[in-house]
Amino acid sequence: MNTVSFADLKLAPEILKALTESGYATPTPIQAQAIPVALEGHDLMAGAQTGTGKTAAFALPMLQKLLPHASSSTSPARHPVRALILVPTRELAVQVEESVKAYARHTHLRSLVVYGGVDIKTQTPHLKTGVEILVATPGRLLDHIEQKTVLLNQVQMLVLDEADRMLDMGFMPALKRILALLPRQRQSLMFSATFSNEIKKLSEDFMNYPTLIEVARSNATSDNITQKVYLVASEDKHQLLTQLLRGDDAKQVIVFTKTKLTASRLAKQLQRDGVSADAIHGDKSQLERMQALDAFKNGRVAVLIATDVAARGLDIDSLPMVINYEIPHAAEDYVHRIGRTGRAGASGTAISLVAPEEERYLVDIEKLIKTEIRKERADLPQHNARAARAPRGEKPEHGHAYHTPAPKKPSHDPWFDKPYVPSISAPAVPVKKTEEAPSKRKSPIPALFVKRQG
Ligand code: AMP
Repeated sequence: MNTVSFADLKLAPEILKALTESGYATPTPIQAQAIPVALEGHDLMAGAQTGTGKTAAFALPMLQKLLPHASSSTSPARHPVRALILVPTRELAVQVEESVKAYARHTHLRSLVVYGGVDIKTQTPHLKTGVEILVATPGRLLDHIEQKTVLLNQVQMLVLDEADRMLDMGFMPALKRILALLPRQRQSLMFSATFSNEIKKLSEDFMNYPTLIEVARSNATSDNITQKVYLVASEDKHQLLTQLLRGDDAKQVIVFTKTKLTASRLAKQLQRDGVSADAIHGDKSQLERMQALDAFKNGRVAVLIATDVAARGLDIDSLPMVINYEIPHAAEDYVHRIGRTGRAGASGTAISLVAPEEERYLVDIEKLIKTEIRKERADLPQHNARAARAPRGEKPEHGHAYHTPAPKKPSHDPWFDKPYVPSISAPAVPVKKTEEAPSKRKSPIPALFVKRQG
């Protein structure tokens, strides 16, 4: 079999040089398949997970196509945003932009990453100097759009990276708003680990006869359940949970808590938020538990909050999602909990919200399952806290948690006082440290208690 080389893919010498320096000898399968399609200008829908080399699969043709626009001029006008890469989380945003920067290091193309949870005003000067390639999480990009600190009318290439996760996290409305602002004449590439109906619908809506590419999954056996950990301060868990529950695949979810008290409290809070939720735990009578379970199975209740004891023996077919609001202290319980999803060949998602004080239990779990679960930090928009103070009558937008238009700078807002390392040279976010930012900040929990209007 002929092995394709990067030179065979007709990439420019300055890009090839960067690849050699990065230690890339040959293209990975997704790169070998996707790069020629993208270079020809076709839209592309690629099924590929992290670790397959998907970032270079879209970044390399992107750089190649933007090279004619590369300019050493310092004028911002010569550096409009020409390529937009949307990603679901900050970690991925930082990783992707680092890769782009590395591949572009011998060109005059500029890149920048913007994501939520950090002071927006420190990102603005970087945007103003002009960048050709912008990597962004959807929530923060909308903030910039509303503050008119970014213009997208010259975008010629759009990438939706980990599109399935973006939908899982409830970003569909945000995506739609962003897509509506982009020029119709553009190339769109979508990367997703799974092709659900929602993903197909999304591609129909915004792509133009995309070429479909799928690379083999690396470990098919354990792929049924996608496991994720969000490192999050305890006080931010409720906000993150609400965001996750708005995701498209959160139609039927079991949320596990450690204690009966948390289960009850959470059910009440979610009910107040307008989520159809019920709790089952040891203090409930058998009849009450049966009724709650019945309602859950029949779809009258979307979210069932359960303790380990109460959940034992629950038999629910093809549950799409399990969320560990608190991770269990016994690692075996974790295996039981996530085993509620991904049954009988169906795919499932198991998400764990882990506070710094729970991390030691996570270590035990990873030891038991012999897998390091991917850690992430959620993109909780900074204006959530402000949304809680939004004028009456403003509706929270579904999917983009309690989004408010054009947030005004309050006279004192802890968010605006946070130091920010310019993302243009941001180092990779070390996994161990990902909990720092959320745990330091003031809790935006009240945002969740904004009563839904209407
Ligand atoms: P990704 O799936 O894009 O997150 O990439 C996974 C890892 O593979 C990253 O560390 C990349 O730097 C690396 N990588 C991507 N393409 C290649 C290649 N052609 N050869 C060697 N390593 C690569």
